[in-house]
Amino acid sequence: MYRVLKPFEFFEPETLEEVLQLLLKFGNKAKVLAGGVDLVLKMRLHQVTPEYIISLQKISGLDYIDVDSKSGLKIGASTTLRQVELSPIVHKGWILLHEAVHWISSAQAKSMGTIVGNLCVATPASDIAPVLFVMGASAKIVGDTEKVIPLEKLFVDVGKTCLKAQEIAAEISVPPLPDGAGTAFVKLAKTKDDIAKVNAAVLLTVSDGLCSDVKIALGSVAPKPVRVLKAEDVLKGQKLNEEVITKAAEVAADSVTPITDVRSTAEYRKDMVKILVKDSLNKAISRA
Ligand SMILES: Cc1cc2nc3c(=O)[nH]c(=O)nc-3n(C[C@H](O)[C@H](O)[C@H](O)COP(=O)(O)OP(=O)(O)OC[C@H]3O[C@@H](n4cnc5c(N)ncnc54)[C@H](O)[C@@H]3O)c2cc1C
Repeated sequence: MYRVLKPFEFFEPETLEEVLQLLLKFGNKAKVLAGGVDLVLKMRLHQVTPEYIISLQKISGLDYIDVDSKSGLKIGASTTLRQVELSPIVHKGWILLHEAVHWISSAQAKSMGTIVGNLCVATPASDIAPVLFVMGASAKIVGDTEKVIPLEKLFVDVGKTCLKAQEIAAEISVPPLPDGAGTAFVKLAKTKDDIAKVNAAVLLTVSDGLCSDVKIALGSVAPKPVRVLKAEDVLKGQKLNEEVITKAAEVAADSVTPITDVRSTAEYRKDMVKILVKDSLNKAISRA
């Protein structure tokens, strides 16, 4: 049930340096606001009650989608999901990311919500995380120092990132897809508007008829989005036939730890992992 917002002080800094100074000053009492889609909802439910809100919306030049010849695609912290979905750069070079964003059906959430905000919510049901995991994305974290971490390390637990109170995620980088790579994203949800009961992303390459590399990531089946390395090992170096794909899907289902919640039971999620992993592998193979 929505309630009246608790009072808070609102800041609209114009530079990242000012954001960091404010975070240093207010620590855990402050929250960064990107699109506000998740944060304002949680504030209205009194699930979070920050005393200080630090908006990123007045910082110019933080809503970019660029390509760097070395590190690939770069997306700034204020870039909305809609900007990513409509970007010709993303569509041309990182179709898997385009497809995952396209699956988010709420126009409002996509117009306001940012891609970095989606990741910083650290929900296991993110549609964005699995596709970025298989593409080997990284996050630039700024605080008292600046560092780049593999995106998988950002996720710690349900709703918990590795970010310290005085840090923000400033940018996501996504390497170019390997030549000839096949990719797929598959999502199972109650309705098209709902978040995932289970989702799966695959990136694979085939050479001389054998699987030369494969990455599989799943959402909504563990406290955070996960790679299923054991299932990947089943496929590497193998001819990708029905038997090996079925084995990989079973191993994937055995390696996850879903819960029962309002959207699904744990047992159903495990069963669906088998189906989604098979479907996404077959789709990726057909595109490789
Ligand atoms: C109706 C609806 C449908 C949705 N459907 C889907 C769906 O199908 N699939 C899916 O994956 N998601 C879905 N979402 C989730 C949505 O994508 C996210 O809530 C949104 O992207 C969050 O981004 P934001 O910019 O609004 O973040 P905010 O709400 O501004 O912030 C969220 C959290 O991240 C922190 N934060 C934000 N930016 C940064 C930063 N740069 N550095 C550090 N911390 C930061 C904030 O402090 C806050 O704790 C849906 C949401 C709604 C409301």
